[in-house]
Amino acid sequence: MSKIRVLVWNENYHEQVSEAIAAIYPRGIHTTIAEGLSTDPDLTVSTATMDMEEFGLSEEALAQTDVLIVWAHHRHGELPDEIATRVQQRVLDGMGFLVLHSAHLCKPFVRLMGTVCRSRWRENDEKERLWVIEQGHPIAEGLPAYLEFEEEETYGERFDIPTPDELVFISWFSGGEVFRSGCCFYRGKGKIFYFRPGHEAYPTYYREDVRRILINAVKWARPINGPAHAFGHHPVPLENIRIQDHSDEIHPTL
Ligand code: ZN
Repeated sequence: MSKIRVLVWNENYHEQVSEAIAAIYPRGIHTTIAEGLSTDPDLTVSTATMDMEEFGLSEEALAQTDVLIVWAHHRHGELPDEIATRVQQRVLDGMGFLVLHSAHLCKPFVRLMGTVCRSRWRENDEKERLWVIEQGHPIAEGLPAYLEFEEEETYGERFDIPTPDELVFISWFSGGEVFRSGCCFYRGKGKIFYFRPGHEAYPTYYREDVRRILINAVKWARPINGPAHAFGHHPVPLENIRIQDHSDEIHPTL
C-alpha cells in the first residue's frame, strides 16, 4: 500500500494572538497534530495554514492530499466560497476529511452536512469522558472503553448535524451535557470524520490516545479506488431484455 498523504490545515489564529495558547502550541496546533501522525510509518504528513497563498488550499495542494485534517474556530468567515467549494468537491471525489473540534462550523463541513452544525458550548474546564460506543469500528482500534480529559471545553446536544452514518464516540461532561463526539459520514466517494476534543486552551493533541484516534481515522478515511461513477439515462442493460421505444412520448421540459 502506498503511503497516505495527509495535509493538516490550521486557521492559525489563537496561537498568534494569545500568549497562553502559544505556550501550549508554540509552533501552532497543526504542527503538534502533524507530529502525532508522523509517528505512523504509513503516513506522509504535511501542514498548511490559512495565511498561505490560496489560504493553503490550492488546487495543487488538494490534488496531492489523500486526507485533509482541518482545525478552525475564529476565521471561518474568511475562507472564500470558491475555496470551500474546492474542498467540498475534492471530498465528493474521494478525499478523506477529518474535522476537528470547532471546525464543525467551517464552510466545507457545513455544506457537506447540509445543516447548521451548531451546538451548545461552555468554556469552564469541565471533565470530559469520551465513550467508545462502536467497539469494532476501525477508528476505535486499540482504544480502551473510554477516555477521560480532566479539563476540556464542554459541548452539548443538540449538535445540529444529520444523523451520522456511523457513531463511534459519545462524550459526557461533568456539567451534565452529552455530545456525539465521533461521527462518520459518507458523501459521494469521500469519507468524513468529525472528532470533538481539541479546544485550543488544552494540550489535547499531545495525548497518545488522541493521536491513535487520528491515525485510525486517517486510515479509515483514505480514498478507496472503487468503481467510477455511472450516472445518466438509458444505460445498456446487462441482461437480454426488450428495450421499449418511448420516442413518441412527449416529455415535459423542466
Ligand atoms: Zn473550542
